[in-house]
Parts: sequence; C-alpha cells; structure tokens
Amino acid sequence: MENKYLQEAKALAPWMEEIFKHLHQHPELSKQEYETQKFILAELEKMGIEAVPCADTGVVGIIRGGKPGKTVGFRADMDALPVEEALDLPYKSQNPGVMHACGHDSHMTILLGMAKIMNEKKEDLAGNIKLFFQPAEEKDGGAKRMVEAGCLENPKVDAVFFSHCSATLPVGKIHVRSGATSAASDKFIVTFRGTGCHGAYPHRGVDPVVAACQAVVALQTISSRRNNPADPVVVTVGSIHAGSAGNVIPATCEICGTIRTLDPNTRKRVHEDLKQIVTGVAGGMGVETDISIKLGYSATICDDEMVALTRAAGEKVLGAENVLKHPETSMGAEDFAYFCEAVPGCNFRYGVNSEKTGKATAHNPAFMVDLDALPYGAAVYAQIADDFLNRD
Ligand SMILES: [Zn+2]
Ligand SMILES: [Zn+2]
Repeated sequence: MENKYLQEAKALAPWMEEIFKHLHQHPELSKQEYETQKFILAELEKMGIEAVPCADTGVVGIIRGGKPGKTVGFRADMDALPVEEALDLPYKSQNPGVMHACGHDSHMTILLGMAKIMNEKKEDLAGNIKLFFQPAEEKDGGAKRMVEAGCLENPKVDAVFFSHCSATLPVGKIHVRSGATSAASDKFIVTFRGTGCHGAYPHRGVDPVVAACQAVVALQTISSRRNNPADPVVVTVGSIHAGSAGNVIPATCEICGTIRTLDPNTRKRVHEDLKQIVTGVAGGMGVETDISIKLGYSATICDDEMVALTRAAGEKVLGAENVLKHPETSMGAEDFAYFCEAVPGCNFRYGVNSEKTGKATAHNPAFMVDLDALPYGAAVYAQIADDFLNRD
C-alpha cells in the first residue's frame, strides 16, 4: 500500500502546483526576496501557522505540537538567478532576466506542502516543526545570517534537513550521502607588482605577467603534489588581467580564483600553500604580491544518524529501490552548511527529472522541474518529521 504521507501529498498536488507556478512566475534575486517573503507569510497565515520575518527577507515558521518533544527544522532557499528563462512554459518567469533556474521555487513548495500536511496533525505531534525560508543562498549567504539571528533557538532545534532538487535524478527517487555533500568555497585575488617598461627592453623593468603565469601553473601542484588524492581539492584561476598593449610590460597583473575543499584542516592548509607558492614563485623573479583570501561558505557535513534517518524515511515513502547512494560529493557550494555546523543535519537530493524536462541542469536557462516531483519531496519531508519526533 502506498505510504500515507505520499497519499496525502498527492492529494495536495494541484495546490502545490499553483504555489510552484506563482513562485516560478515571480522570481527575485538574492537579498531582494520581498514579494516571495510576503507570499510565504501569507500562505503560512492561511494555514494558521505562526511565522515571522528573519534575516531581512527570510521567514521562520513554527508548527507547535500538542505534546512535548523535540524540535525538527527544515530549510528552503528562496532566491532566483540573473538568468533569462529560455523555455516558453505557460508559467514562465514574469520578471525579465530573472529565473528560478536552481529550483528554489520547488524547495519552498515542498516545504509548504509538508507544513500543510503536518499542521493538520499538530495536536498529535510530540514536539515542534520549524520552517526556515532562507534568502540569498546563491549569493551573500542568508543561512549564516539566519543562524546568527537565532532561528535555531526558542525552541532549540535538535536537527535540520534540506533537500535540493536534482535535474539528473528521475522523479520519485532521492540521493542520500554521508559526510560532505558540498565544498567550502573561498575566493582569492593576487596582485603581482613589478615595474612597467617598454616591451622591447624587458631588462629595464620587472615583468609581473611572466611571474603570474608561472604562479598559475605552480598552483596546480597544490592538488596534484601537496594534497592527499583521497581528499578532493580544487584550485581554479578563473581570471587574469594585465596590461593594455602588446609592446608594454605592465606594472601589475591580477589573478582571481576559487578554492574548493571538504575538510576544514585541508582548507586552512591550502590557503597557506597558496600563499607560499605565490610569494615564492613571484619572489624568485623580483615581483611582489598582495594576496587576499575571502572565506566563502563552509563545507556541508551531514550527520551520520540524520543520514540514516533520512534514508529510512525515504525507503518508507519511495521504496528502497528509489533511495540511492549519492555517487560522489559535490565541489559546489551550499550555505545549508551553516545550519549543519550548528545542529546535526542531512542534505539530500530529490529527483525532478523526466522526459518532460529534458536534460538541462541547474543554472541553465532551459532548466525545468517536473511538477510531478513535488508530492514526493513533501512526503519525504513529512515522513522525516514524523520519524524524528517519534524516535526514542
Ligand atoms: Zn544554485
Ligand atoms: Zn540551488
């Protein structure tokens, strides 16, 4: 027999589709989620769920159970991307140049779906369910601001869950993975300072371009020579800027890149490796350097117990054959990391792919969510809430 939460979620499918379409038609960029916030607050109010704004454009809601118990939290990110939607869907974005190309509209929808299901059972709930609608995941880190604003307190949250949609996974399946599910993402900028001169007389100056090029190549030895190959590290230089004429050696050259790591100690070490290599290579050529490393999101590390609970809940809703092991960790960044740093958590993926959606993945202008995926997401969340609040 079909799982009871899946039955209930499927019965809510037309309502969830309307919610999704509204959100998809009205996407807002990071830190500008004003209308989205109003919409979420209004939907929660219609259900009679207490909710307040948080971190400017976010929302925290709470379903208070009729019996005492623990508190479990679920998070949905709210922001869209500066992408022009390529598909001509009947519910296409009405905000030119902005699109929910990462599926955060579906994340908010399944969280509202779960809230509607569980709110009707609140008298029987042993404990509370907190709903986190988080702004600015794509940029500027709304998660950190929500955690700092105290969203995990009063009542204290004991565990937190989040599922990002996956455009490579079919509808009705989830991927669950232990350990790191997204990488720490840090940005670096290095300015190489030499002495400009005529390109025909290089001995009269100090060339920062040659030094920068040597350094870019040498930086690749951080992952290939200094690092344990079993612990993934990426160092990418994505931009190099210097000079404006072919016959002039410029005074400076700037490189900019990203560092991705999973382990906090590796992260620190890679920063030191980068500084040592850049100053050493440039110094050997008489070039000075200014190095700036800006810390981005931390790595998301899932808690083993919460991973096991998610897997078991997923099996009840979808069947064991539809709960897959995530094949590899992602070196992408995800600020759900800050929730998982504060309390035990699990970050898993749910499938939104089908023949209807094509193969475009997240951030692509042709990205599309199959609406049939929504009840599965909401039902897995509901089962997790039930299992977490009723476990010994
Ligand atoms: Zn994204
Ligand atoms: Zn996303």
